[in-house]
Amino acid sequence: MINKVIDHMMIENRQHFMIPGDVVASVSEDNSLRHAFLVLTKIRYAKIPVLDRDDHLKGLLSLPMITNTMLGLDDLSVAPLDQLCVKDVMETDVVTIQNPYDVENVLHLLVDNPFLPVVAGDGTFTGIVTRREVMKGINYIGHNLDKQYLVTLKPEEP
Ligand code: AMP
Repeated sequence: MINKVIDHMMIENRQHFMIPGDVVASVSEDNSLRHAFLVLTKIRYAKIPVLDRDDHLKGLLSLPMITNTMLGLDDLSVAPLDQLCVKDVMETDVVTIQNPYDVENVLHLLVDNPFLPVVAGDGTFTGIVTRREVMKGINYIGHNLDKQYLVTLKPEEP
């Protein structure tokens, strides 16, 4: 169980916890790889969510997933960029969360994932929780814990 004080202080900062879906860069599963290549190159995020027409999360897409299709034996080909679409190459085995304020679960999952997509019960994408935003929360605790709580060292057990 996560310490109640840490949990409480993280939640105090919850307005920064989730980046809402409408400001998260994403691509559609039916977009061509050419379009997705341009988007990923411009925005410079390593991986972005893939959505369907109804805003359901379908997967994640990174630049290497696209460039991998361009590799020939000893040359690069841009032809696959117009022949394939995002759903042909995206990663579909995605770790998601429903409750962005379950601090214990979020901290646990962010160890292995730089961000976590948040989805509603029906699979609708609502935003992401990133390591960066959570690190800001931990920074806040580091600077404010002793302003709000008495922190003393426990005496050593005999
Ligand atoms: P950060 O912790 O801010 O470095 O974000 C970690 C990862 O989350 C980034 O590399 C992206 O893959 C993803 N990410 C963060 N912010 C956004 C955003 N606004 N739109 C899309 N993806 C994002």
